[in-house]
Amino acid sequence: MKILRLILGDQLNIQHSWFKETNNDHIYVMMEVRQETDYVRHHIQKILGVFAAMRSFSETLISMGHHVAYLKISDPHNTQEIHSNLKNLVNKYQCSKIEYMEPDEYRLDIQLRTLTNKIGIPSIAFSSEHFMTSRDGFKKIFGERKSFLMETFYRHMRRDFNILMDHDKPIGGVWNLDLENRKKLPLNIEIPKPLEFDSDLTSLHHEVQSAGIETIGKVDVRKFLWPVNREQSIQLLNYFCKHGLKYFGTYQDALTDKSWSVFHARISFSLNVKLISPIETIEKVINYWQENPETITLNQIEGFVRQIIGWREYMRCLYWNEMPEFATKNFFGHERKLPSWFWTGQTKMKCLSHTINQSLEFAYAHHIQRLMITGNFMLLTGIHPDEADLWYLGIYIDAFEWVEITNTRGMSQYADGGLTATKPYISSASYIDKMGSYCKSCAYNKSLKTGPGSCPFNSLYWNFLEVNREKLNSNPRMGMMYNVWDKMDKGTQNNIRNQAEYYLNNLEIL
Ligand SMILES: Cc1cc2nc3c(=O)[nH]c(=O)nc-3n(C[C@H](O)[C@H](O)[C@H](O)COP(=O)(O)OP(=O)(O)OC[C@H]3O[C@@H](n4cnc5c(N)ncnc54)[C@H](O)[C@@H]3O)c2cc1C
Ligand code: SF4
Repeated sequence: MKILRLILGDQLNIQHSWFKETNNDHIYVMMEVRQETDYVRHHIQKILGVFAAMRSFSETLISMGHHVAYLKISDPHNTQEIHSNLKNLVNKYQCSKIEYMEPDEYRLDIQLRTLTNKIGIPSIAFSSEHFMTSRDGFKKIFGERKSFLMETFYRHMRRDFNILMDHDKPIGGVWNLDLENRKKLPLNIEIPKPLEFDSDLTSLHHEVQSAGIETIGKVDVRKFLWPVNREQSIQLLNYFCKHGLKYFGTYQDALTDKSWSVFHARISFSLNVKLISPIETIEKVINYWQENPETITLNQIEGFVRQIIGWREYMRCLYWNEMPEFATKNFFGHERKLPSWFWTGQTKMKCLSHTINQSLEFAYAHHIQRLMITGNFMLLTGIHPDEADLWYLGIYIDAFEWVEITNTRGMSQYADGGLTATKPYISSASYIDKMGSYCKSCAYNKSLKTGPGSCPFNSLYWNFLEVNREKLNSNPRMGMMYNVWDKMDKGTQNNIRNQAEYYLNNLEIL
């Protein structure tokens, strides 16, 4: 009995049990399809990265003796749609069953569930064997509760997987060392140069262009800098252990225009297409820490572990717990469109121009740039969460809906009304200035709330609080800010709100 086994572009897990043995009756199908390139305008590096990683993965499977049917974007037999391609291949190879790995995206999950009906042969879903949690992870930890504290989730994960534990207590006596991890970069600190690869993707780029796929962003196709196979992904992880880990925690919130990746690992693409697994990532980093106790302190390692077994797994469980309703959430009823400079980087605001320009150049920004620069600005200016999602989903090489929408609509835009974050992540210029160097070379004045040249973040911040008072007033974490605002005299408040109104009406020219 011949079986068609579908592998999606973000399911490149060579450690999957499917690949342990070869079997001539198993035909592995991989396809580059317009269905997946066109639902949003992606960064060119994201399209090239995924396709190059898929092609390299299929070569690995072939070299191991597996039978692979690969449909390139330029293949004349490619219908550019998953169902019809599968149907043709079922007929071609006379298959009597289709097997697939559970997709991580709700849209694809629904689509693949209809395979049996549409193609007329049985189909079965298998685990992708990548995550540490299952889709119903929240049910197991939170039961019927309606709020899901990340810290509770994280502690369960630490206990369940015995990570950084001393019997039933956290190593070091505390679960969370976040307070030690909010430092600004000292002036003379040496920031590691990011490890960049140099794969020549000229011919793949040509195929993508010939297919007419519309993209955003820049690329050096002769020196593609992202990892496109498992070896490079492991090299990147090793490089992070050696050069990034010693300051990862301490400066994970730092902002600077001197580097595009600071001490971050840049492994999210490799993880999200499953070239490496979360558990092996954690093991490698913990081993490195244990072997180098004199250079790596506990706060670095705890900070990193929390991102992977805390935030990343938490977002996956949140996604499956809340979809599809999550994708329609708009707690503040925001309606504005993104200004056009989000696609060019041409704004006088230094923090935004640096973050957007580096995103266009590298398809990457680190977490605090995404959260406290672009996300903060979108929230303060009332951008519709759909607009926010499309931008984040398109521009970042690591953007896949399960982890993009939960971070964007949930954590960053508070569109879920507080399911993901306990308060909106908003700030005026004072936080951005405290955490980095942007304000020093900006055309706007970080200290002014009103008047020509005043930093837009300042008036927009107070205006946002006042406009959303009814929705946020009762949040105990917001009380202090409302007290500060309420103590300002009416004249000052009016001036600030007029200034914000002016900026909101002139977003295009900021
Ligand atoms: C608005 C917004 C959108 C985001 N969109 C995405 C996205 O599409 N895809 C994505 O993978 N991450 C997303 N993130 C989370 C985070 O910013 C990225 O995972 C991180 O910047 C990737 O770079 P890195 O590998 O250098 O991460 P590091 O800072 O080195 O962290 C190590 C790893 O921890 C994990 N991690 C850290 N924070 C998070 C988080 N909040 N959620 C999930 N995993 C996390 C990632 O796998 C990351 O590779 C988003 C965050 C925000 C605020
Ligand atoms: S002054 Fe305002 S706009 Fe300029 S960099 Fe600072 S926070 Fe950004």
